[in-house]
Amino acid sequence: MLEKYLSTCLEHEGNKEVKKAILFIDLDRFKVINDTLGHAMGDLLLKEVAKRLRGSVKAKDEIFRQGGDEFIVILEDADRDEAAKVAERMIQVLSVPHKINQYDVFTSPSIGISLYPDDGDTVEKVIKHADFAMYQAKSAGKKTYKFYSLIKEDSSYNSLQLEMELHKAIDKKQLVLHYQPRVNLKSGRIIGAEALIRWNHPKWGMIPPEKFIPIAEETGQILFIGEWAMYTACIQAKEWHKKGFSGFIISVNLSARQFSRANLVDAIADILKRTGLEPQYLELEITESMTADIERAITTLRELKCLGVRISIDDFGTGFSSLNYLKRFPVNTLKIDQSFVRELHNNYHDETIVKTIISMAHNLNLNVVAEGIENREHLEFLQQHLCNESQGYYFSKPVPSSLFEEIIDSFFGQ
Ligand code: C2E
Ligand code: MG
Ligand code: MG
Repeated sequence: MLEKYLSTCLEHEGNKEVKKAILFIDLDRFKVINDTLGHAMGDLLLKEVAKRLRGSVKAKDEIFRQGGDEFIVILEDADRDEAAKVAERMIQVLSVPHKINQYDVFTSPSIGISLYPDDGDTVEKVIKHADFAMYQAKSAGKKTYKFYSLIKEDSSYNSLQLEMELHKAIDKKQLVLHYQPRVNLKSGRIIGAEALIRWNHPKWGMIPPEKFIPIAEETGQILFIGEWAMYTACIQAKEWHKKGFSGFIISVNLSARQFSRANLVDAIADILKRTGLEPQYLELEITESMTADIERAITTLRELKCLGVRISIDDFGTGFSSLNYLKRFPVNTLKIDQSFVRELHNNYHDETIVKTIISMAHNLNLNVVAEGIENREHLEFLQQHLCNESQGYYFSKPVPSSLFEEIIDSFFGQ
């Protein structure tokens, strides 16, 4: 349809002064939504999105579904300013949570824009260029739009390149784990660390996880990467135990895709067996959004609990926050999201939120970790309100394992 429509338009209008804008739209996080809430919900979301797209363009404009979570919108007689206005409107309307069944589902679009005839004189070219611009919008942090004409073709990397390179990253030993200490706020001792993945690319340098984890999640590569990360972290923790850091707990982040895979528990049991790490020293970090399918989450969490590992809820306060599930979930720890901690002392509401999470966690017999503590004021506030543990630049950034050993030594030497 799209090709027919565009080529007919372009043919008929020939050399006349016709202008069109091609908007290539991809939904952010759609794969995660599909994986966690199920395909039926994904379908409903696509319908909702289509409706909202229709509502943000004129009657003469056309909307196509290109496949999956990709839409293409053709704006008639539109110049750059008009296209930018429409893109901004789409971002705004699509970012309002979608009420689907009983859930608030959050998504946003990444939009690439090419202009006819400036950015290409054939159907193929304008679509390809809009697609390319969309990838740039994704790698610029999503929920944004980019014009093809304003992108330098050789500017660093795009998602497609990352995806292709990522296939080779494990084999080429380009992935590394950094470790950030978790400090007990009462004793001031390091009780463990969170393992955080980094991609050390020979050409592009250190690539942060936000850039490639979502891609790995969409393509399924996260299953291999996640398994590698867990194995590596467990080996490291075992080594630190042998070096005398007894009781040291290692936390590893799980992705949505890992959490919903069928043989997760077996895979973890296998890693523990191969590395010799006792299960009580491994903590798995999941996020609230992974638990949207509550019954399934409870089953998985119970099985993990039987295995003897610890479980924490990461970025607490930013996801679904249904308190009802908390009492049913066999978790050990809540990790207060760093966005609340960062604004302590600037924002009265954040102080209240942090205090409330701490006391709620304690009433539920849960351990609380505050993430992202950066200064002395943060530390004092958290100590005063009896937060159990903390992680943040104030103590240390995530560092390679060799450096981490020096940090432990200096802490223990105090
Ligand atoms: P997270 O699990 O919430 O990790 C905490 C993030 O906060 C880390 O970012 C850490 O470097 C950062 N951080 C810690 N203290 C401070 C602070 O005081 N100030 C500020 N501004 N930031 C602080 P990082 O390493 O970039 O990781 C980002 C996210 O990527 C993680 O968020 C996690 O969701 C994901 N991730 C990292 N490693 C893995 C992994 O092995 N597997 C999976 N599935 N996800 C991972
Ligand atoms: Mg984490
Ligand atoms: Mg976190």
